[in-house]
Amino acid sequence: MENFETAAKSLSASDRILQDLIRFDTTVELRPEKPAIDYIRMLLEKEGIETETFCRDPKRPNLMATIKSETGKLPPLLMYGHVDVVPVEGQEWSCEPFGAGVGDGCIWGRGALDMKGELTMFITAMIQVKRDGVSLPFDLKLLIVSDEEGTGSWGMGYLVKEHPEIFDGIRYALGEIGGFSMMMSGKKLYPVMIAEKQFAHVKITAEGEGGHGSFSHSNTAMERLCKAVEKLSSHSLPVRITPSAKFMIEAIASALGGVEGVALKLLLKPSMTDRMFKLLGKQLEIFKPLLHNNINVTIIEGGSAVNVIPSRVSCHCDLRLVPGGSIEDAIRDIESVIGTSYEIEVVEYDKGSEELDLTLMDNLFASLCRKDEKAVPVPLVITGVTDGRFLSTLGIQTYGFTPMDLPEDLDFTSLIHAADERIPVGAVDFGKDILVDFIYNGYASALEQCR
Ligand SMILES: [Zn+2]
Repeated sequence: MENFETAAKSLSASDRILQDLIRFDTTVELRPEKPAIDYIRMLLEKEGIETETFCRDPKRPNLMATIKSETGKLPPLLMYGHVDVVPVEGQEWSCEPFGAGVGDGCIWGRGALDMKGELTMFITAMIQVKRDGVSLPFDLKLLIVSDEEGTGSWGMGYLVKEHPEIFDGIRYALGEIGGFSMMMSGKKLYPVMIAEKQFAHVKITAEGEGGHGSFSHSNTAMERLCKAVEKLSSHSLPVRITPSAKFMIEAIASALGGVEGVALKLLLKPSMTDRMFKLLGKQLEIFKPLLHNNINVTIIEGGSAVNVIPSRVSCHCDLRLVPGGSIEDAIRDIESVIGTSYEIEVVEYDKGSEELDLTLMDNLFASLCRKDEKAVPVPLVITGVTDGRFLSTLGIQTYGFTPMDLPEDLDFTSLIHAADERIPVGAVDFGKDILVDFIYNGYASALEQCR
């Protein structure tokens, strides 16, 4: 790693905190999160910020920090993020993934973008507010969790289930995935996440004639299941246009204008949607999962002996539902592809929020534009899931809002979870300044306007 400097002489205090965080190996389910969370607790407590720890396993704690309001007349504002990261195994890195080296104007390492950089924005924003000593009309809260990249059962899922009281009164939260810049048709877009797809685990079972493996049989469960798997793999589920996807696409269309804008708007005409994807494939690809439920067969099970034809065989599927879509509609979509002669069981379903609460959106956008006059903020619906899905069950609306001004050749979405994850030096301070601006000038006024 000759070209990387590990010395931090020229870095800001925020970037140095980020380096420290990257150097804690917090690979999910392999390394405990505790040392990194203890470090954050130490940083906050040193500033006189109150913290409290909640854990299912002491090695995998969760930390809530609060700056209490003297008046407390408005609902608290929650910022939250995870300290765990995905593994680096099997990836080719050009540097030490937990070294936090500096090179090419970036800080390199696992978690730089997902989401230790963003976490550092939240931590340093919190510290700045405390140091400024400004009296806010709401409690400012920061929640740092473990286990986001796993199941959430030690992190946010656990907290929402076992400690819902810590979320009392909270209606709005700022979290990950959103606010990073990306160029599109010459415009500098800053997508801000307002909704995410929902996850469901679905089991599809085929029944058929069983018997001895020495005789020939037709229409067996195995044959029928294979037909279903083949159909699910080769057909996409029908078009589903929900209000949040429509909102996002319309906003981007009017931000872009011109031919691109017209093409995007055509996506919202159900008779045209799939034709547009065929026609413009690559360019519109990112919108496809937002307008279709999506299913992948991931496990097949059935049969117990080589000479016995099983009468029941099943497959398990990863089903992602469009935001605001219902599980009943998704099942109908599956049946429209494989027919109605299969048993379909919903094993698990993480329902997202049904209604978007966009109260904070305009003021979040305004804080971004005050910092970067070229910014064109747009709403974003993401195809993955975050801890926001747990909070939505408590009626808390998350906005993915951790602003980053990224160079054009640094593509946020393709670098997260990948090798050579990195964040530009100074990106954390850029985001921190916008967050502080929103805390001082945006949050309270957004709530007052909607009263
Ligand atoms: Zn993340």
